[in-house]
Amino acid sequence: MKTSIATVSIAGDFVEKLAAISAAGFDGIEIFENDFLAFDGSPKEVGQMVRDHGLEIYLFQPFRDFEGLPEPYRSKAFQRAERKFDIMQELGTDLVLICSSVASAALGGIDRAADDLAELGAIAAKRNLRIGYEALAWGKHVSDHRDAWEIVRRADHPNVGLIVDSFHTLGRQIDPQTIRSIPGDKIFFVQLADAPNIDMDLLYWSRHFRNMPGEGDLDVVAFMSAVAATGYEGVLSLEIFNDQFRGGSPKAIALDGYRSLLNLMDEVKYAEPNLIINVPDMPKKTDVKGIEFVEFAANETEAEELGKLLSTMGFEKSGNHISKEVALWRQGKINIVINTEREGFAQSSYIYHGTNICDIGMRVSDAQATVERAKTLGASLFEQPVGPGELKIPAIRGVGGGIIHFIDDKSGLEKVWEIEFKQPKNTKPPIGAGLRTIDHIAETMNYEEMLTWLLFYASIFNTHKTPMIDVVDPAGLIRSQVIENESGSFRLTLNGAENRRTLAGNFLAESFGSSVQHLAFSTADIFETYEQLCKNGFIPLKISDNYYDDLDTRFELDANLLQKLRQNHILYDRDENGEFFQLYSQSYGDGFFFEITERRGAYKGYGASNAMYRIAAQKRKMPPKGMPKLLNEPYPRQRTKSNP
Ligand code: MG
Ligand code: MG
Repeated sequence: MKTSIATVSIAGDFVEKLAAISAAGFDGIEIFENDFLAFDGSPKEVGQMVRDHGLEIYLFQPFRDFEGLPEPYRSKAFQRAERKFDIMQELGTDLVLICSSVASAALGGIDRAADDLAELGAIAAKRNLRIGYEALAWGKHVSDHRDAWEIVRRADHPNVGLIVDSFHTLGRQIDPQTIRSIPGDKIFFVQLADAPNIDMDLLYWSRHFRNMPGEGDLDVVAFMSAVAATGYEGVLSLEIFNDQFRGGSPKAIALDGYRSLLNLMDEVKYAEPNLIINVPDMPKKTDVKGIEFVEFAANETEAEELGKLLSTMGFEKSGNHISKEVALWRQGKINIVINTEREGFAQSSYIYHGTNICDIGMRVSDAQATVERAKTLGASLFEQPVGPGELKIPAIRGVGGGIIHFIDDKSGLEKVWEIEFKQPKNTKPPIGAGLRTIDHIAETMNYEEMLTWLLFYASIFNTHKTPMIDVVDPAGLIRSQVIENESGSFRLTLNGAENRRTLAGNFLAESFGSSVQHLAFSTADIFETYEQLCKNGFIPLKISDNYYDDLDTRFELDANLLQKLRQNHILYDRDENGEFFQLYSQSYGDGFFFEITERRGAYKGYGASNAMYRIAAQKRKMPPKGMPKLLNEPYPRQRTKSNP
């Protein structure tokens, strides 16, 4: 498998791009002339610099508006081609991409185009160069890879081949299976891109919204499976035009690109079990069986506040670590760890972000295999010294810098609680409040980084994603996307903030980019849970009356139920499969909060239509910028008070 990326796909000056592409692990690049025009050096020097970075130039592009022209334009097009060939030879690359013409002077006709390509192929052959023809989805006469292939077939020249591009085929909803009948040796190059499903002008969509395979909604796996079936064994190259990527970190985008190619070919391997797919060996995607624990980093004062809040939700402190300042709080199958150590990862996470969730423990079928897959896909492993009597639990770094630990039962790692924690003696069995499991984890990030997070999770774990939706915050939009598995044992919501005035953006700014903004627990009976919480002194987030009036018109609820929802500040949603109930805590620290949910029937969502009401209620509670929080507010933020 030879991997490549177009230099236009990422940000930076030419040298930065090459460094990032090389560091990410790519074998080569496709080069755009524009990309190095600003660079102060001859094409020969550019070529040398690329090779000095350990990269090859697999393709030079684009050569536009070549075929089907009448004279005198035709002769001029051949002269232009010769000039491009000069540059290619100086650069040290042998393949040029000719995209189907959009010139107004271009005439139609498969044979006319084939004659032009054959004649140019003969000129290229004298220089040992090759030409690849690609159907642009918006080409004037040729906009379909099947027509492009027919032209190449009739040109019948060994130096003339076809270039296929997943965006142009899938973006026009052309069946990718039609690629299977093309001989693999006549496909000279394969370009890959995904894109979100947006109904808009093809050209605009292509130039601004393409993304990495796996990040969008196109069936790039079906496309690539068809290409693999032809016997094609050449370069796989990412050609991504995306405004966000061009403004993003070259290093991060290049890493995403490399990860997306490996993940794509791994998916193709399973989609086409009868083909030999040349992709680095890695364990299968991991099935997440549940969230085993979440770990907060805190100082002693804040740990006490957090403990109080957990107590009101029915949690009991059920153990202390054998050698560290780490407490375990439990209820149902939920394990919450509060780490107040003065050294190690939790401490540095606390210093940077304040109290935050610094570590998530996932229950998986095979912890070691999960880490191996993640590592192959470019994730960093995480290790810190293990004390006497402690288990060595495999872990990686998440995208935002937090840690993800993996626990399985085949290696005995599930016994960590009994082995590493002293349980207090003679405790009464906890009464609890009916909370059973973690329903979902909500992570917040800058919108520009959202696709990186998505690809990270989707490439390591067995999941699917739902379409991205917009959530209205009075100060701007939040983009929200769900990643979940079939059984519901792993549910994540990713929330991309575009500015810091939104609730999510404010959380990011105040916590210096910590990631988990809310944690949702499940209960089997939210009304019983609510009663118990009230006895414990829990103060729910107050929801406005207007919300309940609107709810009535939307769902025509039973008057008793509506009254109960209103009194208990419980939010409600319904879909064709079932019902959903939500209750929120007050915000804690920099804007973190808890949610309690009950799912009835097979409700699949997350109450997205309620999010704007929840946000409005939370914003009413927020102090004006720069003012300390009111003293009578529950759970004041200690760090701010002592260090204004
Ligand atoms: Mg292309
Ligand atoms: Mg939620």
